[in-house]
Amino acid sequence: MANILAVGIATIDIINRVSHYPKEDDEVRAVSQTIRRGGNATNTLVVLSQLGHQCAWSGVLIDETDAAIVKNDLAEHQIDLRYCKVIPHGKLPTSYINVSESSGSRTIVHYRDCPELDFEFFSQIDLNAFDWVHFEGRNVHELEKMLSWLKTHFPHLPCSLEIEKPRDGIEQLFSLADVLLFSQPYAMNQGFKSAQSFLQSLTMESIMTCTWGEVGAWLKANNKIINSPAFPPPQLVDTLAAGDTFNAGIISGLAQQYSLEKTLEYACRLAGQKCGQDGLKNLT
Ligand code: ADP
Repeated sequence: MANILAVGIATIDIINRVSHYPKEDDEVRAVSQTIRRGGNATNTLVVLSQLGHQCAWSGVLIDETDAAIVKNDLAEHQIDLRYCKVIPHGKLPTSYINVSESSGSRTIVHYRDCPELDFEFFSQIDLNAFDWVHFEGRNVHELEKMLSWLKTHFPHLPCSLEIEKPRDGIEQLFSLADVLLFSQPYAMNQGFKSAQSFLQSLTMESIMTCTWGEVGAWLKANNKIINSPAFPPPQLVDTLAAGDTFNAGIISGLAQQYSLEKTLEYACRLAGQKCGQDGLKNLT
């Protein structure tokens, strides 16, 4: 099993279910409330940890009361927080979500007062302890420095980069990562109607994946494209973080040197299992 460091964010989701969405200036009582940790990189770590890997998170942690939600959840999954940058003031990225039971709508207000992790901090981490580094594709400017640093100082340490959303200049990072994990929304935003045509258009030498919801996922390596169908669960319960779970499956398979075919199928099976349950617990 591998020692894996992930760089990205942890967020807090506060979900109020209401019977119907309130009118402006109304006061209503929620039917139920769920408060949970989110954030792509930390979601991926929570899955990797359950698969048996040693996991550590590097990101910004604000010393505020709600940080306990993040810390407790990550501690429950034995995720090492010693590489986090702790800041005394601010607010962790928080999503206030109202789910209307009558319409199914999800109305979200985001608030954060939290900087992204900077290269300066990252460069102090002793990466000799790790077998794999995973990055969430967010802060392009700082990430470019981190990925270049890795290439120069740790050329044999494999790294993966998740590209979920289009961001200014993110393409300049593509040649710096060994594994590129693309999402369907990113590929569609680039004008592609299938994962296959999107991957065909890319010329990098990295291993590249692109997920496509319930259709499955595609992987390109050595100029060859392979595909795996999705594995629908007996009952579809919750698809949130299916992509983060898929990414954990890919990292786990590659870190254990499974074949590319086996890795892709394994990631799709794991993501399918996740879709059949609420949250990320008990994934194997
Ligand atoms: P995201 O969570 O980023 O929106 P996707 O929806 O593309 O990611 O899903 C990632 C992977 O999860 C897919 O490649 C597929 O293997 C699996 N998956 C997603 N939706 C379903 C579903 N309805 N049934 C089975 N597997 C699914």
